[in-house]
Amino acid sequence: MADVHAALRSLGLLPPTAGTADGEPLEEVYDTATELAVRHFQQVRGLSVDGRVGEETYRALSEARWSLGDRLLHHDPVRPIRGDDVINLQDRLHELGYDAGPVDGVFGTETEIGLRAFQRDYGLTADGTCGPATLRALRQLGRKVTGGRPQLLRQSASFVESGPHLIGRRIVVDPGHGGPDTGFTAGETTEADLVLDLASRIEGRLAAAGATVYLTRGRDQAPTLQERTAFANDARADLFLSLHLDAHPSEHARGVASYYYGTGSGPSSTVGEQFANLVRREVIARTGMLDLGSHAKTWDLLRMSRMPAVRMDCGYLSHPVDRLLLLDARLRSTVASAVVAAVQRLFLPAEADPPTGTFVLPARV
Ligand SMILES: [Zn+2]
Repeated sequence: MADVHAALRSLGLLPPTAGTADGEPLEEVYDTATELAVRHFQQVRGLSVDGRVGEETYRALSEARWSLGDRLLHHDPVRPIRGDDVINLQDRLHELGYDAGPVDGVFGTETEIGLRAFQRDYGLTADGTCGPATLRALRQLGRKVTGGRPQLLRQSASFVESGPHLIGRRIVVDPGHGGPDTGFTAGETTEADLVLDLASRIEGRLAAAGATVYLTRGRDQAPTLQERTAFANDARADLFLSLHLDAHPSEHARGVASYYYGTGSGPSSTVGEQFANLVRREVIARTGMLDLGSHAKTWDLLRMSRMPAVRMDCGYLSHPVDRLLLLDARLRSTVASAVVAAVQRLFLPAEADPPTGTFVLPARV
């Protein structure tokens, strides 16, 4: 139920977490306040108002948590993208006089046609994908918080323009597993789906910071290790980041580890090691997950890529707390932000690096 509470809270329908005297969070219960919040949500969303979180309400809650800029939006005929960010985009297109079909939060053919028309008129690449350039154009055309329809729960895009710091950088993000290879599973949740979601969030944020980003696979693809590294090599990537989750028979195993190429004693990838440290520390600092350190490995994935390559195992699906965290979309957004911060620290000159107070930038070699 923590996920439901988190969703209601992020929509402003429940107050921020109350705590006990010693700072421990109170246990989440489905109390009267929760039921009221759910009823309110159902009412605003035009769902049947019963105060219970059934399948429909749960899906609506999940969709409500996307804001414009969280991810790249495009038309996927197999699994159409749904969410409040799509509603926001459709609204903006309508406000600007483009027919993007019904404002239903589903990125369909009509949304794509409307978006392409807008892109053509404003001198953008008419690729039907709502990425950073399109977002900037949409934003520059004046902010209008409410459209001609009932005010949305999420009133404004939380898209944070981080500036084009990473222009010219090519980054390959590699969500592990895929297709028939689900990786670890916990109930209906698979490692493959979670790391793909994470990779998509990273892709959106890195692209917003100006980087050129490629993912090694889609939802139904399962490239081999060789194909993944060949992909990164062909893309002439500056950086390769592979994403996995872990699991262990012991339910106590938890935390975040990162890996870079090296034998431990012999030559190692200096930049790879540096990025492995940066990304792990950023994730730890922002999520409070357990720090399992960075480790040198000679795995093919790291060895065969011709650019700094890092694999991050971002938590244990087998650990009850790690699992709850990973199932929370906000946590995955936080991890995505952490990755972007790490990439910026890697590529930005040290003097341009904004102090965060979370850690001291290692000396450059
Ligand atoms: Zn894995």
